[in-house]
Amino acid sequence: MSGADVGELDKRYVLHSHQRDQRPFRRMIVRGIGSTVWDTEGRELLDMLGGGIWVAQVGHGRRELAEAAAAQITELAHFTSFFEFGNDKSALLAERLAALAPGDVNRVFYTSGGSEGVDTAIKLARLFHHRRGQTERNWIIARHFGYHGATLGGGTATGIPDMQVGVGPNLPHVEKVTPPYPYHSEMYGGENPTDFLLRELEATIERLGPDNVAAMIGEPILGGGGVIAPPADYWPRVRELLTGYGILLIADEVITAFGRTGAWFDSAERGMDADIIVTAKGLTSGYLPLGAVLMRDRVADVMAAGSASFFHGHTYSGHPTACAVALANLDLLENEGLLKRSLEIGDWLRAGLAPAAALPAVGEVRVEGATVGIELVSNPETREPVSPDLALAVADELYEQHRVITRNYGPTLVLSPPLVLDDQQAKRASSAIVQVLSRLDVEAGRINPS
Ligand code: PLP
Repeated sequence: MSGADVGELDKRYVLHSHQRDQRPFRRMIVRGIGSTVWDTEGRELLDMLGGGIWVAQVGHGRRELAEAAAAQITELAHFTSFFEFGNDKSALLAERLAALAPGDVNRVFYTSGGSEGVDTAIKLARLFHHRRGQTERNWIIARHFGYHGATLGGGTATGIPDMQVGVGPNLPHVEKVTPPYPYHSEMYGGENPTDFLLRELEATIERLGPDNVAAMIGEPILGGGGVIAPPADYWPRVRELLTGYGILLIADEVITAFGRTGAWFDSAERGMDADIIVTAKGLTSGYLPLGAVLMRDRVADVMAAGSASFFHGHTYSGHPTACAVALANLDLLENEGLLKRSLEIGDWLRAGLAPAAALPAVGEVRVEGATVGIELVSNPETREPVSPDLALAVADELYEQHRVITRNYGPTLVLSPPLVLDDQQAKRASSAIVQVLSRLDVEAGRINPS
């Protein structure tokens, strides 16, 4: 069947995720090796987006992961982790994750992805308090611009209003506060951003009632919000404030864990000292759907006390094949030094994109290890963002004319390449981006021809 034919089938039968407008064409990606993928038209593309969705940490087409999956499927593809059942791979993986995780984060609950993980974390936080007699602690504090998935729980915690409209009542007891966004310091009315945010957070807790709040959830750096890192004192001060109120902190590390920003767990680097850490994507490099919710001993002890029941779980929790692939994936990340490589990729991209920062349409270039946000503005003085459509046109031009895959998240062009990207590929991507951005005419709302 030809590429055009499968594209037609896709248009006819597949409902795509996260499509603002139904686009009249399809880009059908069918093969990949390392940081390169091919579409059905035979076009060779540089994947600067990690499988298009912040995965592919170890690169595409890794035989080691295929072999781990094949060996496990031959042995035992799946058996449930419900009730008293378990399996060797999920136990081995949990031990490995506990060793990598910060401090006393030692217990793992498995999911099939990030959204299930966020929902799990919300339930764990509420259960934690309820079991200790504080049954009013139900409120979850989340942040504007945060992304926490598409389920009712994660979707409600997400700070993108589009996710919440037209689907009836959302999850109750979720409140949003302002996130740190250093580039848009106008949000803080001239005040020190962390002081402003801490004051707002404390006022929010007081308004909801300190004994009614179960947890706060946040990404160490905002990912889908545009790759936005907080000031260094933000998370330590939030942590301290929450501890004072007995409120748990959930780190959503679905994007950041397993090397994306150069660390196993970015939350530990930023002083979050989280009670619960939600992970997914990089755990298997996206080869199989798997998520892991990690928790500190004090949370786990409440869930797993001798007589405590724990009625929560998914058919694929602890899936042995996914866990076997995760173990092989962690081996690759470790043995090939890909966390260090992540930082090198950041350095290459920072250097390659430096000329972009001087362009009038570029507000800010933000590099956090192997992930980058390039915020596009229509006016550098007022920092007015470009329309998402114009940012999308940039991504389209990079795909069509330069064979480089990127994506806009609102006005921000995002990069999140495989951690096996080499310096030449980083150079090629950067110069293509600089080239296209230098042709961006924000006033006319178009990209001028080269
Ligand atoms: N949390 C964060 C920070 C994410 O970026 C995502 C997805 O991109 C999710 C949660 C949801 O994960 P999933 O799409 O695997 O359900």
